[in-house]
Amino acid sequence: MVVDIDLEPVTAESDLFQKPVYIAGPCSAETEEQVMNTAVPLAAMGIKIFRAGIWKPRTRPNSFEGVGSVGLKWLQRVKKETGMRVAIEVANVKHVYEALKYGVDIIWIGARTSANPFAVQDIADSLRGVDIPVMVKNPINPDVDLWIGAIERINNSGIRRMAAIHRGFSSYDRTLYRNVPQWQVPIELRRRIPRIPIITDPSHICGNRELLFDISQKAMDLNFDGLIIETHCNPDKALSDANQQVTPDALGKLLNRLIIRDPEIKEELMLTLAALRDQIDKMDDRIINILEERMKVADQIGEYKKVNNITILQTKRWDDMLKNRLQLGTRKGLSEEFIIRLFRSIHQESINHQTRIMNEE
Ligand code: PEP
Ligand code: MN
Repeated sequence: MVVDIDLEPVTAESDLFQKPVYIAGPCSAETEEQVMNTAVPLAAMGIKIFRAGIWKPRTRPNSFEGVGSVGLKWLQRVKKETGMRVAIEVANVKHVYEALKYGVDIIWIGARTSANPFAVQDIADSLRGVDIPVMVKNPINPDVDLWIGAIERINNSGIRRMAAIHRGFSSYDRTLYRNVPQWQVPIELRRRIPRIPIITDPSHICGNRELLFDISQKAMDLNFDGLIIETHCNPDKALSDANQQVTPDALGKLLNRLIIRDPEIKEELMLTLAALRDQIDKMDDRIINILEERMKVADQIGEYKKVNNITILQTKRWDDMLKNRLQLGTRKGLSEEFIIRLFRSIHQESINHQTRIMNEE
C-alpha cells in the first residue's frame, strides 16, 4: 500500500533533488584547510551539495568523534566562497539548533538515529515551523517500515522537501560490503512512497573505494535519483572512513564513467519487455505451484514424525540436503549465496508447517 506523504514535487524550479543529484564531501570536517581543499575542486566540477560530518557516530569510543560546532564556521565559508549548499548529519536537538544557527542548508538523519523512533521524534518536534530539506538514511537494520516511519515523523512536522538515503544494512557475517545493499529494501521504499527521491550512498555500502563504481552504476540502473559519495582532499589521511573516501579528481572520473539510462521505456522495447515479463510471470506461477506441492509432502512427513514421535529437525538430513542443492544449483549457474538463502527459506517454511501439525490436537 502506498504511504501518504506530503512532499513538495521535484520540479525544474525546485532543483534541489533533481535527478541525478550528486552530493560529495568528506566523511568528517577535520580542519578548515581540509574542508576548503575538498570543497573548491568539487564546486569547480559542478557539484551543488557539499556534505561533511560535524558530529560523528563512531562504533567505539576514543576514535575521532568530529570537530563539533567549530566546523560549522568552515561550512559557512564553503557556502560563501563556492556557492554550494551544505549538508550535515544531525542526531539530536542540539545538532538541529546548531545547524540552523549556522545556516546549514540541508540536514540528514544518520542510520543509527533513524533506527530510533524516540530520537527521530525529538528531531521532528524541533523542526516544527522550520523550512529545511531533510534526508533520512535507512536504519541500520533492513526494516522498510522503520525507515518509512522515520520519514513520516519528519514529514508530519511539516517538512516537505525530503529525500531518502540508501546506505546499506549491517550484518554479522563478513561480506564483500561494509553494509549489505539489500536493494529490495529501497525498491520497496520506492513502491510505498513513489515520490520521494532516493539517493544511494555507495561509500557506506562499500566501505572500500574500489567497489564504489559498480554500486553507483547499479543505483542509476535502478532509476534512483542520485548519489552521495564521501570525498576528501587526502583520503588516506582521513580521520574517519579513510578506506572508502576518494579525491575530488577520482570522484569526477567515477561520475563521468556512469551511464545514465533511459527510464522511459519506448513502445517497441515495451513489447519485447512485455513478452519476456509474461514468461517470467508464468514461471513464477509454476514455482508457486511446485512449492505448494512440496509443502503438502512436508505436511505428510510432519504427520509421520508426529505419529512416530520423531523430532522435526534432523540436522544431518538438512546438512546433506543443502550440500546436494548447492551442487545442483551451482552447476546451473546459480550463486551459492542465492541457493543457501533460497533453501534456508524453503526449509524454514517446511519446519513451520510441521510445527503446526505437531501441535495440532
Ligand atoms: C555518514 O554519512 O558519515 C554516516 C555516519 O553515515 P551512516 O549514518 O550511514 O553510518
Ligand atoms: Mn563516513
